[in-house]
Amino acid sequence: TPGLYLVATPIGNARDITLRTLDILRDADVLTAEDTRSLRRLLDIHGVALGDRPLVSYHDHSSAKVRDRIIAALEAGQSVAYASEAGTPMISDPGFDLMRAAQLAGYPATSAPGPSAVVTALTLAGLPTDRFLFAGFLPNASGARKKALTELRGVPATLVTYESPKRLGAMLRDAAEVLGAERPAAVCRELTKKFEEVRRGTLTELADHYSDAQARGEIVVLIGKGDSDSVSETDLESEVRKALETMSVRDA
Ligand code: SAM
Repeated sequence: TPGLYLVATPIGNARDITLRTLDILRDADVLTAEDTRSLRRLLDIHGVALGDRPLVSYHDHSSAKVRDRIIAALEAGQSVAYASEAGTPMISDPGFDLMRAAQLAGYPATSAPGPSAVVTALTLAGLPTDRFLFAGFLPNASGARKKALTELRGVPATLVTYESPKRLGAMLRDAAEVLGAERPAAVCRELTKKFEEVRRGTLTELADHYSDAQARGEIVVLIGKGDSDSVSETDLESEVRKALETMSVRDA
């Protein structure tokens, strides 16, 4: 059937592909992917022949021309499958513009759901999952990151962020400072892969653990709500001290 198919692909273990995604990849007239090499590899692993079908590269930096080409295929009544490099398209990944363009032009779009690191991490972190806020990648620079964390401070939900191994230690340190040293948290690394690891602890414990040793692989950081209020005792102490200082200045 014509239309745009947004397909989820594995986040590590190639066998985490759904039967429906394989059907779509086998049957679509046009394949388009954020990373054509990784889609090609996936097709090879699962014995799906590309044949003479086009495999078009589409990512956030693609020109409108590429998008127009895909829309033209939809216009011609073709079916188009889109996959991002890994996991679910549009979850910290491209695909949104393409989806909106298809929608606005009146072509049907459907999703073939499957793996995503955010949901996989939630199932393993051991933190409440009834309410969560996915914050994607936080800013790289410490100042901007602390500002983003401050905005999240009062959110009564488990916070989920993606992080690069390079910045993990610094990010945990900033989170401990802004959200509270004692907040429960978890670092989920290399999910569904050979060296899958889940490490739980307070933000301070995790920051200490990842401070010197550079972490490796792909990482999801989850931060629990904290106790009744999200401010740790140390934070509370310094808040009180600050308040008293301002008072004495004013009263003097
Ligand atoms: N679209 C993907 C999804 O649905 O999860 C996310 C793409 S985003 C560009 C890549 C980031 O997702 C990584 O830097 C990491 O934070 C997280 N991620 C992806 N695969 C992962 C895995 N196997 N284990 C842990 N985190 C992963």
